[in-house]
Parts: sequence; structure tokens; C-alpha cells
Amino acid sequence: MNIAFWMSEPVIEWSSKGLSPTTGGRCRYKPFSCEIIIREKYKQDLGIINHEMTHYRQYKRLFWYHSTMTMLSQKYRLKIELEAYTEQVKAYRYTKKSDYKWIVNSLYAKYDLDMPISYIMKRCDAEFIKYLKDGK
Ligand SMILES: [Zn+2]
Repeated sequence: MNIAFWMSEPVIEWSSKGLSPTTGGRCRYKPFSCEIIIREKYKQDLGIINHEMTHYRQYKRLFWYHSTMTMLSQKYRLKIELEAYTEQVKAYRYTKKSDYKWIVNSLYAKYDLDMPISYIMKRCDAEFIKYLKDGK
């Protein structure tokens, strides 16, 4: 079920507008829509595109609850980012745990989660391992 069932798919803007140097893309929640910005160089990167589109679907599903919880709750932020990064793990067809180490580091460093990296690693393993080709 989508609370914001009327919300239409965002038009992706291919630019670096408002992105930090280490960010490939972002989904910005607006009062009744969202805006996705992805760097031009990632135009063919289905992983990043699917990641940001997952945030759009999360917003559509829970609407203001989603945008509010994203700001207020570190636990919720981890949960939604794991869902979005799962799309990248799938798109990149990762085969082993070391392939997604950059995601663990990124979650630890860039999302203000205030959680030990060992915990983030455990959560990533639980979420991603079923998508690895050899399951290790
Ligand atoms: Zn994200």
C-alpha cells in the first residue's frame, strides 16, 4: 500500500547539484514529490539509479512518516539505506562480502548513524548475503 499513491515518478536530474564530492546521487523529499539528482557520469549505473528510486518508493509508501523518520531516527535511516543498497548489491552482481565493504564504510562514515562498524557489517551481511553468487 502507498499512502502517497498519487505521487508520480520523479524525473531524474543528471547533475552534481547539491551533491557532496563523495556522493553519486540523492533523493530529496519535497512536500508532495521528490527530486532525484544523480551525477552525469552514473547515467548508465543501474545500481545508483535503483538505489535512489528505492527512496522514492519508500517515500511514496509511507509519505511524511518516511521523510520525518529519515531525519529523526538512526535506526530507521539504517533500515531504509539497507533496502536501497540492496538494489546496488543486486545490480552489481556482487559475488563476495568484500565487494560490498565500501557500502559498510559508507554507511559508517556518511549517514550519521552513530553505530559501531561491526554492527553495520552484521546488518549488511544479514541483508546482502542472499544476493551474493557464492553465498559467502
Ligand atoms: Zn540512500
